[in-house]
Amino acid sequence: MSPRYADIIIDISHEAIDRTFQYKIPEGLLGQIRIGSEVSIPFGRGNHLRNGYVVSFSDIPSFDEEKIKEIADIRKGAVPVESSLIELAAYIRECYGSTMINALKTVMPIKEKIKGLTRKQVRLLLSKHEAEEKLPAYRKKNAKAKVRLLTELMDECVIPYSLVTGKLNISAATLKAMQKENVIAIEEEGYYRDVVKTGDKEIRTQDNLRVMPNEEQQAAIDRIVTDYEKGNPGTYLLKGVTGSGKTLVYIEVIDRIVAMGKQAIVLIPEIALTYQTVKRFRKRFGGQVTIMNSKLSKGERYDQFEKAKNGEVTVMIGPRSALFTPFKNLGIIVIDEEHEAAYKSEYPPKYHAREVAIERARMAGASVLLGSATPSVESYYFAKSGAYQLLTLEKRAKKEARLAQVSIVDLREELKLGNRSIFSNRLKELMADRLAKKQQVMLFINRRGFAGFISCRSCGSVFKCPHCDVSLTEHDKGTLRERLVCHYCGYEQKKPTVCPKCQSPYIAGFGIGTQKVEEQIRTYFPEAKVLRMDADTTKNKHAHETILSQFANGEADILVGTQMIVKGHDFSNVTLMGIIAADLTLFDHDYKSAERTFALLTQAAGRAGRGSLSGDVVIQTYNPEHYCIETASRQDYEAFYEEEKAYRSLLKYPPFCHVLAVFMEHDRYEELVFLADRLKEHFVKWGQDNGILVIGPCDASIVKINDRYRRVVYLKHVQYNTLVEIKNKSEYFMERDAAYKDCYVSFDFDPVHGY
Ligand code: ADP
Ligand code: ZN
Ligand code: ZN
Repeated sequence: MSPRYADIIIDISHEAIDRTFQYKIPEGLLGQIRIGSEVSIPFGRGNHLRNGYVVSFSDIPSFDEEKIKEIADIRKGAVPVESSLIELAAYIRECYGSTMINALKTVMPIKEKIKGLTRKQVRLLLSKHEAEEKLPAYRKKNAKAKVRLLTELMDECVIPYSLVTGKLNISAATLKAMQKENVIAIEEEGYYRDVVKTGDKEIRTQDNLRVMPNEEQQAAIDRIVTDYEKGNPGTYLLKGVTGSGKTLVYIEVIDRIVAMGKQAIVLIPEIALTYQTVKRFRKRFGGQVTIMNSKLSKGERYDQFEKAKNGEVTVMIGPRSALFTPFKNLGIIVIDEEHEAAYKSEYPPKYHAREVAIERARMAGASVLLGSATPSVESYYFAKSGAYQLLTLEKRAKKEARLAQVSIVDLREELKLGNRSIFSNRLKELMADRLAKKQQVMLFINRRGFAGFISCRSCGSVFKCPHCDVSLTEHDKGTLRERLVCHYCGYEQKKPTVCPKCQSPYIAGFGIGTQKVEEQIRTYFPEAKVLRMDADTTKNKHAHETILSQFANGEADILVGTQMIVKGHDFSNVTLMGIIAADLTLFDHDYKSAERTFALLTQAAGRAGRGSLSGDVVIQTYNPEHYCIETASRQDYEAFYEEEKAYRSLLKYPPFCHVLAVFMEHDRYEELVFLADRLKEHFVKWGQDNGILVIGPCDASIVKINDRYRRVVYLKHVQYNTLVEIKNKSEYFMERDAAYKDCYVSFDFDPVHGY
């Protein structure tokens, strides 16, 4: 039976989304109204008809049934983009377990009035001469206001809007009329200005200067475009070695799909969203492209969305949230570096951009193109099993570019040789060589500041908690109270002075930060010019771009940095990449840590030797025999995938099983333990018949944040829907049990960030 009532939002603004109004669905419209439908409804005391959108349904009236008004009509024909975004919100609510309000806030570009961000102004579009000619005509018609404004503008050219309507007393109607005559423009100062640095708004490259795709690239392009033309949109995984020219494939595909009157969204991990990437798109699409990122103000972001909706731009580049660009005729969604954890939201609703992109594309009849040199195990598995279509690029695109020579340095051996510096002898030698040759060097550390784990520098053993399978973390470093702590169970011990396994006194936290490396470069190579790129040096809006362009222009010999330096950059003079400590992310506490490490190492290795000069990569590690390090050094994704797949299958992790993390937070620890245990009992009961695996509860890796305690329960099952069902059951159960009132609970399907 169709539901009887619909919850409707009146308008898409912040306040409106927080408030829904219940309406009766009239007999005649039963079964025709869907989530997202645009309807007209009598509103307020005067019952004036207004437009609204259906966001949910109910069977029970929320107040006096007699007083509930009826929906007047439903909009037929073309679906407005708002409707499809609301439908997408419903999908997010359903699949990731959030409230509809949170889901709506995620997908809708919400106008928030922020004062002082943009200033309206009036600009004269005529030359002074043309304006002079216009004046007599206005005078003749006795258009006093027009004369007044035009005279002012002839002096100033641009006048603040407030002045025009205020002191000059020009009415909105007059302004509109003059706008129509193309005498003036009303614009917003600051509008769009900082979004792309002015110098980069260069004109498109002439057609005859374009780089032509090679055979491999062309095959991939044709396949995607032909399918699309035939009305067969699909999901494609473009697996291409670093430097194989995936970006050109994106650009060509987008060009052809945009030519059919469609629009494109390109998702890029925030960290890689640099002027280099944007510049490549600008060269092809000019002002058709705009970007989005977290450093834009809310107002600026909203403006970008408006431009997309109005058809002023057709290509949107941005991180996860750009997925919700309100394009009316979306043709393709590209997700570059699709393996990145950044595509999974860390806040509720904890959606994965890849999955939501596939759903949005399905609704819009669009294609999805995932690209990576090191696809996530999930995506590669889906591509191999036929759920996605696999396209591969095996060769580097530039003829002269070859894959770099990779060598592994065993840091345990270095110590035996008496080398206690951050740089192995091999790395030091190569650095000296490149500096002498005036070639550039990149040094990569896969973590900022002090790293978590502590190990013996002679035998490489990592200090682990006796109660949990996690490494201990150094606390109160450098003080007398130096301790090792387990973040999972709270176990603590004094930091030992010798290694219990080999008695070596060289025990060290892996306290290598980017600053430390910079320091050491100064010691060994005092004449080298160094740039550092990490979270500290990139706080300002354009810092990323500044550092990268300085390096690209040869203003420094060495670039030291974190993750941010390995993503997608293309420096042809870099011939050496040093990976200072490859193991750093290997001992993170989640099932994705090997995949993440492999991807980082491969990407880092891919930075060297991109031009005509051949490159070297040095991987320093304490675990040279670990399959992840070993396969990464050979840049052998297939071998890595096979090992990793076996491990995931054995331990029941995605893609072989779905995992639901139920995260709980409470002011009091005992209460939290009690509530988590009780919930677990219910999970076990509900899951008995269909074989749900329940793990935990256990403390989160950081058990207390802001005085709130955190625990987590994991559920595993092959069927996603079974987990969704059990999530719904648990929500229903907790709503009816007062004890859970003060307990914050959130759900995370197939988590990619550890708890
Ligand atoms: P990926 O993203 O796959 O690592 P890029 O898209 O950054 O690779 O391309 C690597 C380099 O190869 C870039 O400098 C790019 O301009 C160049 N390139 C791409 N396609 C071609 C081609 N068909 N011919 C020549 N150079 C190309
Ligand atoms: Zn030891
Ligand atoms: Zn422990």
